[in-house]
Amino acid sequence: MGRSGSCLCEAITYQIPESSLMEAVCHCKNCQKQAGSAFSTLAGIKKSDFSLTGKPKLFVDKATDSGASVERYFCENCGSPIYSALPSQPDVIYLKTGTLDDTSDFNPSIHVWAATKQNWVEIDSNMPQLQKQS
Ligand SMILES: [Zn+2]
Ligand SMILES: [Zn+2]
Repeated sequence: MGRSGSCLCEAITYQIPESSLMEAVCHCKNCQKQAGSAFSTLAGIKKSDFSLTGKPKLFVDKATDSGASVERYFCENCGSPIYSALPSQPDVIYLKTGTLDDTSDFNPSIHVWAATKQNWVEIDSNMPQLQKQS
């Protein structure tokens, strides 16, 4: 089994396992810019469990609030963000879960960079949040 997804034009497709290492919502400004949206929804997946077809383009995002660069992989044909990776965590990728074919079991357990969330977004007060992220 597993979960499948693709970019909008389907030049890039992928498979991930049923369960993620973690699932989160990121409200950092750079995710907002890249997604063209209010936040990005992420699933941490072991790199060895992530199988990809097609060739995403890499943008190395250096102007981050954390100061650490973020590798942002996206489809250069249709623009869908596919995943991000952090050089400090070489064994993990952070999938952009809006690209999953079925998003019904996405279940984030934390909100990060809540300090820069958009004003209209309300985070459930029972949900853990980090104002920033180390
Ligand atoms: Zn595409
Ligand atoms: Zn972010």
